[in-house]
Amino acid sequence: MVTSMEKPQPKINPFENAQKMLDDAAGLLKLEPSIHAFLRSPQRELHVSFPVQMDDGSWKLFKGYRVQHSFARGPAKGGIRYHPDVNIDEVRALAFWMTMKCATVGIPYGGAKGGVIIDPKKHSLKELERVTRRFTFEIAPIIGPETDIPAPDVYTNSQTMAWIVDTYSALKGHLVTAVTTGKPIALGGSLGRDKATARGGTFVTREAAKALGLSIKGATVAIQGYGNAGAVAAELFTDMGAKIVAVNDSQGGALNEKGLDIKALDAHKAKTGTVKGFAGSKDIKRDDLFALKVDILVPAALENQITKENANLVKAKILLELANGPTTPEADEILHKAGVTILPDILANAGGVTVSYFEWVQNLANYFWSEDEVNKRLDQIMTRAFVDVHREATSRKINHRKAAYVVAVARVAEAVKLRGFFP
Ligand code: GLU
Repeated sequence: MVTSMEKPQPKINPFENAQKMLDDAAGLLKLEPSIHAFLRSPQRELHVSFPVQMDDGSWKLFKGYRVQHSFARGPAKGGIRYHPDVNIDEVRALAFWMTMKCATVGIPYGGAKGGVIIDPKKHSLKELERVTRRFTFEIAPIIGPETDIPAPDVYTNSQTMAWIVDTYSALKGHLVTAVTTGKPIALGGSLGRDKATARGGTFVTREAAKALGLSIKGATVAIQGYGNAGAVAAELFTDMGAKIVAVNDSQGGALNEKGLDIKALDAHKAKTGTVKGFAGSKDIKRDDLFALKVDILVPAALENQITKENANLVKAKILLELANGPTTPEADEILHKAGVTILPDILANAGGVTVSYFEWVQNLANYFWSEDEVNKRLDQIMTRAFVDVHREATSRKINHRKAAYVVAVARVAEAVKLRGFFP
C-alpha cells in the first residue's frame, strides 16, 4: 500500500527526460549497448522510512532516498534535498545528473543524490536536526569518504552537513569530516564553497559571452529562485557590471527595470523571508519573469520550470541553468530553434560540486587552501569545461546541452570500458 507521504509521480518525469539525454548522446557516440544499458539505471538505491519525534511529543514517519547512480569514475557524490515534492524518479534524475556533471568538469566522482519528503518550513530547527540525524543513521551503511559523499541541495545547508558529520562520526568513533562537503568552515568546510555554484555559473557565462561577442558589463539579468545559487548569482553578476532587473522565490517576485539593489534586497529577504514586497519593486510571477526581454535568464530553483507551455515566452540570449533540470526536452527544442544559447545544468551549475571536490581533497589532506586559490582553480576547471563542451558543439554542429552530454558520457563510458564488468 502506498503510504500517505508518498506523492504520485509527476506528469513530467525528470528521470525519463534524463534518460532521453543519455540516449541521444549514446546515439552520437555509437555507445556499446551494454554500457548504454548500464548508465540508464542507477547502480544502487536505498529507500528508507523512519520515525522522528516532534517537539509536541508526537511521532511522525518520514520517507527518504539515497540513489547512487554511478561509481564508474570514483565515489558517488551529490546533495541531499528536503522538499515536500521529493519522489524517487526525481532523486534518480538528480543522481544521474551528478554523474554527468562530475564527468563534464572532469572531477573524479560518480553521481548520487538523496532526498527526504518533508516541508522544512513547517518544522522547527530541533525537528530538522532529529530528522537529519535519523536519516543519516539510515543511510550510514552506504555513505562515506570513499563511497558516497553527500552535500547540501534544496533546503539543506552547512548546518545540515554538520549534523550529518556528527552523526556519522559518532557511529565511527572518530571525527570524519570528509563524509560530506558544504560544511561550515569551522568543521573542515572549504572557503568559497557557499558561493561556488553561482561563481562557476558566472565563469561559464563569461566564456559563453566571449564566444557570442556579448558583454556581461551592462547586460540585463533575471533570476528565478533566490536561494543558495540564485541570490549569490545576483551578487556576482552585479559585481561584474550586469543589471539584475527581476528575481523571484516561492512566495513572489521583485521587478525593477532600473536594476535591483542586491544588498538591500538581501536584507529585505533576511527580514521577511521573501523578495516579494521589496521597496521600489513590483511583484512578478514566474512566467512573466521568463518573458522579460533580458540578456541573461537564470533558472535557479527546481526542475521542469521551462516547459513547452512557456518556452516560447523566453526572449533572453543566454539561459544559464543554475538549477538542475529546469528545462524539459520539448522546451529545449523550442529555445534552441529560437536561437537561445543554453548553458546546460551539468556544465552551468557544476561549480558547486567542483568546490565540493576541493573541500574533500582538503579534508583528506588536512591542509587548507585560501579562498583565492579555491576561486582560481574553480575558474580553471569551469573554463576548461566550457571550452571542451563548446568545441564539441561546434565540431558536431549540436547545441551545448547535447555537446555536454557527449563529453560526459564519453568520459564515463571510457572508465566503464577500461574497468570492464566484474567478475
Ligand atoms: N547539490 C549540488 C548539486 O546539485 C552540489 C552537490 C555536491 O556538491 O556534491 O550540484
